[in-house]
Amino acid sequence: MTSRLAAARAVGVEIAARHADDVDAGARFPREALAALKDRQLLGIMVPESEGGAGAGIAEVASICDALGRSCASTAMIYAMHQIQVACIVHHAGKNAWLRTFMKQLAKDQLLLGSATSEVGVGGDVRSSICAIEEKDGRFSLTKQAPVISYGADCDGILVTARRTPQSPASDQVIVVVPRDGYQLEQKSGWDALGMRGTCSNGYHLEAKGGMEQVIPAPFADVSAQTMLPVSHLLWSALWLGIATDAVTRARAYVRSEAKKTPGGVPDGGWRLAEAASLLQLMKSNVVVSLRQYEAVVGSEDKLTALPFAVAMNNLKTGSSQLAVQVIHQAMLVCGLAGYRNDTAFSLGRHLRDAHSAALMVNNDRVLARTAQLLVALREDPGLLE
Ligand SMILES: Cc1cc2nc3c(=O)[nH]c(=O)nc-3n(C[C@H](O)[C@H](O)[C@H](O)COP(=O)(O)OP(=O)(O)OC[C@H]3O[C@@H](n4cnc5c(N)ncnc54)[C@H](O)[C@@H]3O)c2cc1C
Repeated sequence: MTSRLAAARAVGVEIAARHADDVDAGARFPREALAALKDRQLLGIMVPESEGGAGAGIAEVASICDALGRSCASTAMIYAMHQIQVACIVHHAGKNAWLRTFMKQLAKDQLLLGSATSEVGVGGDVRSSICAIEEKDGRFSLTKQAPVISYGADCDGILVTARRTPQSPASDQVIVVVPRDGYQLEQKSGWDALGMRGTCSNGYHLEAKGGMEQVIPAPFADVSAQTMLPVSHLLWSALWLGIATDAVTRARAYVRSEAKKTPGGVPDGGWRLAEAASLLQLMKSNVVVSLRQYEAVVGSEDKLTALPFAVAMNNLKTGSSQLAVQVIHQAMLVCGLAGYRNDTAFSLGRHLRDAHSAALMVNNDRVLARTAQLLVALREDPGLLE
């Protein structure tokens, strides 16, 4: 275990877990945990060492998401969403001097980045935009109706997708990095949601301005396929694994407490605990294998855009999101009313509510429809992805 992972685990256990119920009840930003992550320099760890970061790889970041997910799903989701934005800049900045300087600032000041990909009118179709970059004399302006920008009020910068020009078709998109002093947010909707309440995913009218050098040079189609999509599915799955792991931990604690009442025997809920543990292992295996697949192709544009890889990353998302809910449901059956109530050491309501966001966060129906298209187009057997 790296010292960074150990530090993240401590933040999870000692800080995020302590405030998780209050964050959930108040639908408030998990400021204590995010301040602690910032304090321990864990926000800029993916920035290369040459730019002042730690050059951490995806597996380490995923392990941190898993660790935080065990304590506070909202904290873990905010951390994951931030790292997805960082990965887009790190992998696609190229020689762009402005972006490289921004990376340095990100590592030095531990900036927290948010995302405005969703847009009113296109639903969750990340690969379509209505808003467009309007360029004049090397400067841009951009107006976006964003139905959700998680922690929009608390971030230090936002990555925004838009059409390349006002004349471009909906799918000809770019992604632009806008630091805090380059945008204004007018809140249009709140976030009184079933779960992930601490992500504070309000809706906003966003107005941004800046220099054209803030636009990531690669087309968003490439940034999305090579980085945003696989990294999102890996990091989200890792934190959903963390939520499910904590649910099984609570179920095991419940069964052990029951076992003490009948020494020598295994309580009735024991076999269901075993089933939950088996599903959890399946979920974990999927995340671990997918991380290895990503690590094997990262850096190769051809391999990252190959259809079998895209199928594997989509399967990870749809599979993990469904398994998380199943595992927590099993854990709830193990704990019975003690799991259903909100005031016991075995409470699982928050876990279940948080995990239900997984299938909607880019709707599984949408992901499955895309996977079906890829499977039809594929010549080789996707099950044999090496
Ligand atoms: C906790 C959380 C945090 C989020 N944070 C952010 C953020 O910071 N920034 C951001 O930009 N977005 C964010 N999002 C939004 C997210 O990325 C998706 O855009 C959003 O969940 C999709 O919303 P939707 O259900 O309204 O739209 P859609 O995905 O369009 O779904 C609407 C309906 O259409 C159906 N549907 C749509 N397309 C298809 C298809 N091809 N095949 C079959 N059925 C289809 C779906 O089944 C569903 O019933 C967040 C979401 C969550 C849950």
